[in-house]
Amino acid sequence: MTGVELDAQGFIKIDEQFQTTCAGIYVIGDVAKQLAFTHVSWEDYPRLKAILCGEHRTRNDRVLGYAVYTEPQVG
Ligand SMILES: Cc1cc2nc3c(=O)[nH]c(=O)nc-3n(C[C@H](O)[C@H](O)[C@H](O)COP(=O)(O)OP(=O)(O)OC[C@H]3O[C@@H](n4cnc5c(N)ncnc54)[C@H](O)[C@@H]3O)c2cc1C
Repeated sequence: MTGVELDAQGFIKIDEQFQTTCAGIYVIGDVAKQLAFTHVSWEDYPRLKAILCGEHRTRNDRVLGYAVYTEPQVG
């Protein structure tokens, strides 16, 4: 209905700058196909904000580390 397309696995399709297949609609976090980590979703926000403010950045020009949170804390 909105024109936002999903891939075969149900993730929302986005381009390099978080934009869906519907112009003007952006998504961040787990709903977009990328590493499903808290810090990735967290970092998506300032990154998208910068993009929307005109900075030339993409969602892929970053190094993403793996992190496992435990209870109790290990580190
Ligand atoms: C068991 C488990 C262990 C994990 N362990 C780790 C770990 O060790 N390290 C790590 O980095 N990541 C871990 N993750 C992944 C991490 O939890 C996710 O990557 C992160 O929470 C994604 O954040 P998000 O904001 O994109 O989505 P979410 O945290 O899923 O937030 C989405 C929010 O949208 C809400 N929502 C859904 N539908 C609607 C709607 N229609 N209207 C309004 N609100 C809606 C949901 O209620 C939810 O609050 C783990 C995940 C799971 C399930």
